[in-house]
Amino acid sequence: MLVTIKSRGFSVLPWACYPAVLLLFTAFALAQQVEVVPINHASLVLKWNGKAIYVDPWSQGNYEGQPKADLILITDIHQDHLDLQQIAAVRKPDTVIVAPPAVQSSIAEAQFLKNGGTTEVLGIGITALPAYNVTRGPSAGQVYHPKGRGNGYLLEMSGKRIYISGDTECTPEMKQLKNIDIAFICMNLPYTMPPEEAAQCVNEIRPKVVYPYHYRGSDLQVFKKAVTAPGVEVKLGNWYPGDSK
Ligand SMILES: [Zn+2]
Repeated sequence: MLVTIKSRGFSVLPWACYPAVLLLFTAFALAQQVEVVPINHASLVLKWNGKAIYVDPWSQGNYEGQPKADLILITDIHQDHLDLQQIAAVRKPDTVIVAPPAVQSSIAEAQFLKNGGTTEVLGIGITALPAYNVTRGPSAGQVYHPKGRGNGYLLEMSGKRIYISGDTECTPEMKQLKNIDIAFICMNLPYTMPPEEAAQCVNEIRPKVVYPYHYRGSDLQVFKKAVTAPGVEVKLGNWYPGDSK
């Protein structure tokens, strides 16, 4: 027989219900967690609340076993970020694509966000942030990523704030980011920044967790050592599973 107990005049659940409530609570808590799946270079998949969020899907990545995308975020126009073939492979009819206006000629049906633009998709708050070179470029007076073209993204889900840098150097805007739970920070020369500079940026942002990504050819141990701000955990994911090194 179930026994209902009363506490200060309120009916509370029968004891027999508590395991079920605990299971439900655990299932809910697990659904609210963010799972990080490194794919390749700038590409990753985030899983949250039964949704799959793809960043810069690229055909050099192995997507075996991954669900189709509910949301695709595109950061820039270069091949490692904008790959129409792979976007077509991972999308379904109702997939939402969020991208900077610079890719409009390639993907007509995306939601376009300029730097500073915001939207909400599937309960996820999305803010497009500037991603650009301050100094580095192919020749004097030119930069690889001019300000205003590419987007980094700040995602807000279940109260968690996730920052995806896109291709960028350590910009003044990045240094002002606060209360970041998980940061994905790019590095690699000559296009973005060296690991020391990326680490300095992380020391300013102070995320709870940082994943270096887009790091081909960079020494992650240098990065790890140079992240000295208290309370920052460096997590390493394998973004280059095909490489022998
Ligand atoms: Zn890139």
